[in-house]
Amino acid sequence: MNLIAEQVKSCQKCDLCQTRINAVPGKGNVNAKIILVGEAPGRNEDKKGEPFVGSAGKRLDEILLDSGIDKNDVYITNIVKCRPPNNRVPTKNEEESCLDYINEEILTINPKIVCVMGNTAFNTLLNGKEISKNHGNFVEKDGRTYFITYHPAATIYNQKLIYELKTDFKKLAKFLGKSNEDKQYEERRCDFCMEKTKHEVIVVPKIVTKKRKWLYKCLQCNHERWLVPYRTVAESLY
Ligand code: URA
Ligand code: SF4
Repeated sequence: MNLIAEQVKSCQKCDLCQTRINAVPGKGNVNAKIILVGEAPGRNEDKKGEPFVGSAGKRLDEILLDSGIDKNDVYITNIVKCRPPNNRVPTKNEEESCLDYINEEILTINPKIVCVMGNTAFNTLLNGKEISKNHGNFVEKDGRTYFITYHPAATIYNQKLIYELKTDFKKLAKFLGKSNEDKQYEERRCDFCMEKTKHEVIVVPKIVTKKRKWLYKCLQCNHERWLVPYRTVAESLY
């Protein structure tokens, strides 16, 4: 895998090498059961040389936490490893020039499932179109299992998609045997142990509490606190 990363960093197979700051090889657990595939690096990724470190990455972290899939158990990469100017969609030629790298990443990791996020990955790897009609589906191709879902960035300007993306990732977690069932989690600073920790969010119907207040349970020190819900959780329920 290091070899692939080194090749990517010095790659000049398409014109994107002329405008990039850094090429962005995939990153994560090389023994992962799941590979997440995005489109191409954005501005922050280009600056840092790492995938999904900008706003789409923040959204992805939130979705993973909610699903119960541990970020340390995944490998994250993109179809195209260098940033297209102004974040335009990569051209067919750029995708084809870069295709060997993703194929090698998939072969090397040999995951249980490849999760394609968004139209570029869906189109390049599965020849698919219209993510909105196919998201949430598992597909078999050449002896490999793929899962189709939205790109996390698509949910930044479309709040309705957050719920659908979360539902898809819960399905994926279930497939991987990592399901939280219907538990919800959020990261926040515990006001007892003062650590930034994972909290289980126990949603109590309004009928019981009168006001919208839910129970947040720190999974580190077990401290319980009633709170008005964060928007992220609220969005998935209303
Ligand atoms: N969007 C992507 O598709 N990939 C990244 O790495 C970041 C944003
Ligand atoms: Fe090479 Fe891919 Fe970067 Fe093009 S986008 S220069 S093919 S690593």
